[in-house]
Amino acid sequence: MTNSYFTQAELDFPNANDYLIRFMDSVESHDMHVNTIDNGFRSTSRHGGEGCLTVERSRLKLTVRAVDPDDFSRIRHTLTSLITFIARREQLSISWNGDSVGCRLPADLRVLTVKSLTPMPPAYLRIRFQGEDLHSFADTTQLHCRLLFQEHGTINPEWPMLDEQGGIVWPRRQGRLASRIYTIRNISADEGWIDIDFHIHKQAGPATKWAQKAAAGDICGILGPAAFGPKPANYYILAGDETGLPGIARILEILPDSATGVAFVELDRDVQKPLLKNNTHIAIIWLSRKDMRSDSPLVNAVKNHAWPVETDGLFYWGGYEYDTHKTINRFLRQEIGLKKENFVSFSYWRRHMSEDDIVEIGGDAISD
Ligand SMILES: Cc1cc2nc3c(=O)[nH]c(=O)nc-3n(C[C@H](O)[C@H](O)[C@H](O)COP(=O)(O)OP(=O)(O)OC[C@H]3O[C@@H](n4cnc5c(N)ncnc54)[C@H](O)[C@@H]3O)c2cc1C
Repeated sequence: MTNSYFTQAELDFPNANDYLIRFMDSVESHDMHVNTIDNGFRSTSRHGGEGCLTVERSRLKLTVRAVDPDDFSRIRHTLTSLITFIARREQLSISWNGDSVGCRLPADLRVLTVKSLTPMPPAYLRIRFQGEDLHSFADTTQLHCRLLFQEHGTINPEWPMLDEQGGIVWPRRQGRLASRIYTIRNISADEGWIDIDFHIHKQAGPATKWAQKAAAGDICGILGPAAFGPKPANYYILAGDETGLPGIARILEILPDSATGVAFVELDRDVQKPLLKNNTHIAIIWLSRKDMRSDSPLVNAVKNHAWPVETDGLFYWGGYEYDTHKTINRFLRQEIGLKKENFVSFSYWRRHMSEDDIVEIGGDAISD
């Protein structure tokens, strides 16, 4: 790579090898292509640039190289934030030494404005946002995004910047903005809009409250996309609760009509089932949850499904509460023996923990 920006960081980290696979999986789910190399991995961004992570003699070594200063800043931030989140209990301090590109807006940040609000039974509010230059979010291999909520009625929003150490500098006026992860339910980049389906849950945190109070013209930032969508397969198993349903609904629309399989959707008992557009041969099976304290019926449904003997051509996609994720993830790996490339299972939320609590605890709060 010629005329590229370069930076590196090195730190003592005696048990770094214990975290290596989790670092790699996490970087891969953030829109990066990952290859293993001696003692670590190399990640390349589809936008340009690469980041390497290796462990040598109890030291963690990181390098970032990119031609474009925005790619450089983005990869440095991705590595810094994911490593410090996953290994939060190690209290790591990463100090980068290398070329300087100054503090920058995240290159993937786009500004969205609320266009319309549509209540969607059983318990969703769909917000259609309008924005410009949204083509990168229309990627069906990456379904998710991070929303940054500006206070209602804000006219001149300020946005966080990425600093020279891979950290975030929050706006001086507003401070830290509330932010949560959501699924891009519908998008037309050509017409400049994105739909997000907010599940209006009873413990409403900042994202749900923001959606409930939103009005046309309110402003929100979007970052991403990230975390996988469906892969080509000859049999699909999809599973989700209210938070996973927007992803399942979008996947059913993305897949070819010939797709076969099953989709398990868990909702509160007695709620009205939403109408899903489904031209595929994937059967939708609705499951009723007794109440929020009981075990998720998804676990038994997934475990008792008549799994094909040959799983190489199968793809599993799931999004639900942490305990359900943990049990299903273990089942898929240990009992079905699914290979990593044949499934994704996401912890979308955790009972009794807000996303801010999870960020404070770090990777231990969502580990399998
Ligand atoms: C990749 C990904 C994609 C997601 N896509 C969507 C989506 O499209 N639509 C959607 O609605 N959500 C989605 N979620 C889940 C959403 O980010 C969380 O539910 C988030 O916690 C909501 O933020 P909040 O500010 O309302 O609550 P928080 O402040 O995060 O939490 C406050 C309290 O509410 C509880 N809580 C959080 N979520 C729920 C819930 N769903 N049901 C019951 N209690 C809850 C928490 O345990 C906590 O006690 C997604 C999550 C991920 C990781």
